Amino acid sequence: MPQLHLFNHQGELVGPVTVPALELTEDEWRARLTPEQFRILRAHGTERAFCGTLLDNKTPGVYACAGCRLPLFTSDSKFHSGTGWPSFFQAIAPGNVAERADGSFGMVRVEILCGRCGGHLGHVFDDGPRPTGLRYCLNSESLDFTPADRTADLADPAAELTPAAASPQVTGQSAQAVFAGGCFWCTEAAFEQLVGVSDVESGYCGGSKGTANYKAVCGGDTQHAEVIRITYDPGVISLDTLLNLFFDAHDPTQLNRQGNDVGTQYRSAVFYADSTQKAAVEAKIATLNASGKYRKPIVTTLEPLTAFYPAEAYHQDYARHNPTQPYIQGHAIPKACQLRARHPELFSPQG
Ligand code: FE
Repeated sequence: MPQLHLFNHQGELVGPVTVPALELTEDEWRARLTPEQFRILRAHGTERAFCGTLLDNKTPGVYACAGCRLPLFTSDSKFHSGTGWPSFFQAIAPGNVAERADGSFGMVRVEILCGRCGGHLGHVFDDGPRPTGLRYCLNSESLDFTPADRTADLADPAAELTPAAASPQVTGQSAQAVFAGGCFWCTEAAFEQLVGVSDVESGYCGGSKGTANYKAVCGGDTQHAEVIRITYDPGVISLDTLLNLFFDAHDPTQLNRQGNDVGTQYRSAVFYADSTQKAAVEAKIATLNASGKYRKPIVTTLEPLTAFYPAEAYHQDYARHNPTQPYIQGHAIPKACQLRARHPELFSPQG
């Protein structure tokens, strides 16, 4: 069965969730779709270039399957390709857009289909922009657009069954810590393979909801920091150990930068959830400052965790999904490997 990412009733994308494929008869599809939607989605048709209603849509939001409402792409990855069809450089999540070889019309192409209902969406080509180099070429008729502030309208009952949709509060043997230590692609990759860590999510903290998106945060004046939210089992790995790794995985004496990544969004910070976490971080910084390990004082800021905004789907598990990307090869993978080499006992052996 397909492994998909879905929106929950809070309008958050969660997953992967195992859900059954949607299989309808031709008559049922004809009843559900307009004739033009049926021609494209179910009969592999193509709309005329420069005629689609979503070609020039620049409103932030989500593009879902017109046949089954499965979220497929976001406006964050939409770009102007000049081809006359809506174009994206990345799917909202790996399983949501399926691929298969297409040898029709004497060409060798890769067809893209909805991961749940199998509806024909278009094709994907390898002449797209960074960071993926891919161009997903879509038919507007295959898509259904939902503005960013109404993603809860796409809520799927199956999404409510996932652990990711559970409350972020500490419960029993589950706790969370939110660290900022430079680019979240790197920090996420460094913490993902730790024994006792069940989830690491990239996101934004310190600014407002309205600017909690990659384009705005990259500008450097939203007060957000790129952060990771670590969900861990304190019975297996302690906050003290996570703090040791956090300070080891970046340079906490660099003010508002990590290497070539410069700006307040790359500041060193811990976003504490309560007074216990705050005291633990203060004690750790005092110990490290007194240890003589650093030639300059630690500038890591302590900031209250008022809200965590998950980063766009294409940022999650970025290093794992984009292992050949130059920044990942040059920075994230070496950083994760160094941390593992220095603390092998903390990492899962299959890593
Ligand atoms: Fe679909």
